[in-house]
Amino acid sequence: MEESNLTISIAHLYPELLNLYGDLGNIITLKKRCQWRNIKVEITNINMGDKIGKHDLFFIGGGQDKQQEDVAQELFSHKSELQSQRDDGAVFLGICGGYQLFGHYYQPHGKDKLQGISLMDAYTVAGKKRFIGNVTIKTDFLTPDTLVGFENHSGLTYLEGDTKPLGKSIVGYGNNGTDGFEGGRYKNVFGTYLHGSLLPKNPHFADYLIELALEKKYGEQIKLSKLDDKIETETHNSLIGKSY
Ligand code: GLN
Repeated sequence: MEESNLTISIAHLYPELLNLYGDLGNIITLKKRCQWRNIKVEITNINMGDKIGKHDLFFIGGGQDKQQEDVAQELFSHKSELQSQRDDGAVFLGICGGYQLFGHYYQPHGKDKLQGISLMDAYTVAGKKRFIGNVTIKTDFLTPDTLVGFENHSGLTYLEGDTKPLGKSIVGYGNNGTDGFEGGRYKNVFGTYLHGSLLPKNPHFADYLIELALEKKYGEQIKLSKLDDKIETETHNSLIGKSY
C-alpha cells in the first residue's frame, strides 16, 4: 500500500502523570517517523477520566511510585478493554513504571500493592537498591539487534508464562539484576526499563512498532520506506556497550 494512504491511531496513556526522563520523546519519534513518510497520524492523549477508545498503538511512560499510584486504579478500570485490544493485535509500549503496570501488580516499598492490567504475565516488587545507569540489550528480533537507553528504577520485574524478555542485558541491571534479561514481550505488548527517551536513538525499534501496528490494521505485510537515519544510527552506535 502507498504510505500516503495509511493512517495510524496512537494513544498516549496519562501523559500528564507518567512521563519521566523524556519519555514523551517516544511519542514524538513515532509521530515524526510516520509524518516523514506521509502516513497520517492521530495522537490521542488519554488523561484521567477519559474513555480509552480503539487505537492501533498505545504508549505509556514511566513515573515515580506516587504517579503510578495516581494512575493504577484508573488504568485498572480499563483492563478488560485494553486486554481485548491486545488480543486483537494492538501494539503497546510501556516504559519503566508504565511497563510495571502492564504486569499483574507492582508492590512499592511499604505501601499497598498496585494492581496492574495483566497485559503480560509478569509482576514487580520494589527492591532495596536503585538501578541507575546506561543500558545495552541484545534482542533476537531487531536489526540491528541492539537497544540502548538508561535505567532508573528500584522495581524488580519477574516474567512468567509465555512472556519473553525484550533481550539479554549486555550493560545494565535489566529487569531484576539477577536473571540477565531486560524488558518483556507478549503478543504485540512490549515493556522496557529503557528511558532516554528510548525510540529517538533506536529508530529501528520505532519502525518495527509502527509496521506491527499497520500490519494489524491493514491485514497485510507493511515494509516502511527507508529514512535518512545517519544521526540516529551514529548516536545508537556510540552508546552500545557504554556503561557511563
Ligand atoms: N517507581 C518505579 C520504580 O522505582 C518506576 C520508576 C520509573 O518509571 N523510572 O521502579
